[in-house]
Amino acid sequence: MNAPFLMPPRDFNASGRRPGLIGRSLVRKVMQAAEVARVERLSGPFVIVDLCGPAVRATRWSAGQRASLIFDQSLAGRTYTPFGWDQEGERVRFMFHVHGKGVASEWAWQVGKGDACGLVGPAASIETPRAGTGDMLFGDETSIATALSGGLDRTQGRQCVFEATDVSLLRQALSEVGLQQAQVIARRPDLSHLDEVRSALAGVGDSSNLTLTGNARSIQRLHQLRGPSFAVRTKAYWSPGKSGLT
Ligand SMILES: Cc1cc2nc3c(=O)[nH]c(=O)nc-3n(C[C@H](O)[C@H](O)[C@H](O)COP(=O)(O)OP(=O)(O)OC[C@H]3O[C@@H](n4cnc5c(N)ncnc54)[C@H](O)[C@@H]3O)c2cc1C
Repeated sequence: MNAPFLMPPRDFNASGRRPGLIGRSLVRKVMQAAEVARVERLSGPFVIVDLCGPAVRATRWSAGQRASLIFDQSLAGRTYTPFGWDQEGERVRFMFHVHGKGVASEWAWQVGKGDACGLVGPAASIETPRAGTGDMLFGDETSIATALSGGLDRTQGRQCVFEATDVSLLRQALSEVGLQQAQVIARRPDLSHLDEVRSALAGVGDSSNLTLTGNARSIQRLHQLRGPSFAVRTKAYWSPGKSGLT
C-alpha cells in the first residue's frame, strides 16, 4: 500500500523530452516489449517493478548498467537502473522514485501485473562501489537501485550516503530493501546540507572509489567541495527543470 504518501500532481508544463519523427523511427527499431511480472510498493514514493519476457531473457544484465524504459506512444524514454536479475534471466527489477512530475512517475504509480512497456538497452552507466571495501556511494531517492545493483545490501548500506527530501520515508524504504545502515541527510534548497554529506564521505581513502549519483546540482557542488580527484566517478540521474537524462 502507498498510503499515507499522496502522489504530487503531474506538472503538465514540464518540458518532457520527446523524440521527433526520425528519433521515433530509431526508437521503434531498437525497442523491445517487456511485461510487468510483479509490482512491489514500498513505503512512500517507491515502487519496484519486475519485468519479464523474451527481451529480458535475451539480455546479459550486470551491475552498473542503465536501460531506457518507454511507457506510451510518444516513445519518450526514461533511464532506470536494473538490479535483482535472477540466475535464469527470467526477470529483472527496476526501482522507481515517484516524484510525481513525468511519464515515468505516473506510469509507476499506476502500473499493475501484466502491463507492458518498451525496453531499450541495457548500456553501461557507472562502475558501482565494491561491496565490503572502503568505496562509498552518494546519491538520493533515485540511487537505491544503484546500491542494490552493486550488492551494497551485503554491507546493509553502510557504504551509502543519500540526500532526501523526506528522510523518514527514504529510511523506511531503505530498510525494506536491506540498506538500513545507509546514512540519510535532509536535502536543503540552498545545498548547505552538502557540508554534512562531505563529512560523511571524508573517510574515503586514496585506494577507494567515491561514486556520486543523483541530482546534477548536488554532484557538481560536492565535486567542487572535495576538489579534483581521479577516484571520483559521477553520473547525474536528474536535474531540476530537465527531463529524461540518459
Ligand atoms: C543512468 C541513470 C539511471 C537512473 N536510475 C534511476 C533509478 O533506478 N530509479 C529512479 O527512480 N530514477 C532513476 N534515474 C532518474 C530518472 O531517469 C529521472 O528521474 C527521470 O527524469 C524520471 O522521469 P519522469 O518521466 O518521472 O520525469 P521527467 O518527465 O523526466 O521530469 C519532469 C520534471 O521532474 C523533474 N525530476 C525528474 N526526476 C526527479 C526526481 N527524482 N526528483 C525530483 N524532480 C525530478 C525534472 O527535472 C523535470 O522538471 C536514472 C537516471 C539516469 C540518467
